[in-house]
Amino acid sequence: MSLSGKVAIVTGGASGIGLGIVQAFLAADIKGITVVDRQSALALASDDRVLSICGDVSVEGTAEEYTAATIEKWGQVDIVVLNAGIEGNWHMLHETPMAEYDQVMAVNARGVFIGLKHGLKAFLASPSGGRGCSAIVISSVAGLQGVPLISPYTASKFAVRGMACIASQEYGKFGIRVNAICPGFIETPFSMKHPELLDAMKEKASLQRLGSPKHIADAAVFLASDAGEFCTGSTLKVDGGITNW
Ligand code: NAD
Repeated sequence: MSLSGKVAIVTGGASGIGLGIVQAFLAADIKGITVVDRQSALALASDDRVLSICGDVSVEGTAEEYTAATIEKWGQVDIVVLNAGIEGNWHMLHETPMAEYDQVMAVNARGVFIGLKHGLKAFLASPSGGRGCSAIVISSVAGLQGVPLISPYTASKFAVRGMACIASQEYGKFGIRVNAICPGFIETPFSMKHPELLDAMKEKASLQRLGSPKHIADAAVFLASDAGEFCTGSTLKVDGGITNW
């Protein structure tokens, strides 16, 4: 599957799943990628097809900046992957501090909404009027079934599936596709905060193992490439079967 000639923006691309997606897009011969993260993308510093921008995705000015910088460097935006996310602490819903709810929703839901808004604007302004352009939001199995004790995270991951669903309906007529990926338990710095869960998560998955960022990245390459050209409004579950029961 090739992304030759295309230009992407990937949020949260400095670590974990986002980094895996950037590496897979580079391997698929992409022309250029803007990586947006609140930390610098050190692992990608040597690749001249990567433009790194530090910023907070929940701030609209960040999206204005990274979209303008991408167009200035490569003249186009064909793919956006809205991946940056945080989990929050574990609480019963009634014990959740509202500041924590606000923070999780700001990054995971507002950040994706802003990224979609500016990505779609850039797609529509392209010479093709958006035809061939594609957005991917990273939800979670929490956005399918919920995960107890992380209710703001669960709410945010349902929300981004809703955004992908409605954007696919509004922009399909322009040839723009919008899809969601729901990862299961993937080995990244994010999930490794819970080493005590690893064995239980492996056991719960039908395939009896954890996923790697590459599993999610391969799904993203499929959805962003011509191989996924008839997919829009799809939710692609990539979870080793952790939600099969
Ligand atoms: P990670 O912590 O390894 O990477 C997340 C990246 O997002 C980091 O580089 C971080 O700096 C960046 N980020 C966080 N807040 C930001 C902000 N406000 N602005 C800009 N960048 C910000 O996590 P990951 O496991 O790679 O998770 C990536 C996405 O996948 C998240 O949306 C997460 O919810 C989702 N996900 C992960 C798993 C898993 O098991 N790892 C499972 C399901 C869904």
